[in-house]
Amino acid sequence: MSTRNKVITTLWLLSTISALTRNIGIHAAPTECKYMESSIISRSAWGAHPPKDRFTFDGPAPFVIIHHSYKPDVALSPSCCRKSMLEIQNLHQKERGWSDIGYTFAICGDGNVYEGRGFNVVAAHAPLYNNRSIGLLLIGDFTDKLPPQSMMDMAKDFIRYSVECGYLRKDYILYGHRQVRNGTDCPGDAFYAEIKKWPHWQEDVKDIA
Ligand SMILES: [Zn+2]
Repeated sequence: MSTRNKVITTLWLLSTISALTRNIGIHAAPTECKYMESSIISRSAWGAHPPKDRFTFDGPAPFVIIHHSYKPDVALSPSCCRKSMLEIQNLHQKERGWSDIGYTFAICGDGNVYEGRGFNVVAAHAPLYNNRSIGLLLIGDFTDKLPPQSMMDMAKDFIRYSVECGYLRKDYILYGHRQVRNGTDCPGDAFYAEIKKWPHWQEDVKDIA
């Protein structure tokens, strides 16, 4: 091979590698998405039972729906948080016969985020919104008290993270569960008054039926 051909071949190889890397990059999470990974407890880490079925939807989701668990109340240690997640999954999966825990993710008082159904998985926390939202649970009864500040900070961080990673739209709308479902006090009177001050909370509920 002549020197000229070697140069051409090398340049072609370099441009092909660079194009391939770019293409792979389109589907990979941006590097800034990694920053919360150490705070997210995967399903296997909290001992989740497998879902009975699982359907996905195309993101990014346009809505975040905020919930409280009512029962169980706030848990502060990792072992209590794992127990709470299993208790909620058992209620939803075994007693109510749903395919899995209803929520997309849960914030617990040990400072971690627990994976529920996960991003872009159709959930069961708010009819009409299950295939277009992140159902975010804060574990505890927030009827008369607010969640610990650390839990609320983590919830806000997690919402920001969801936007940065492309799972939630930049112009997302945040609702409390009671706004989209009649007959529930969720996420509790005290906490509902608080989330009205959070970014992207909206009073008016769009008719999406
Ligand atoms: Zn709720």
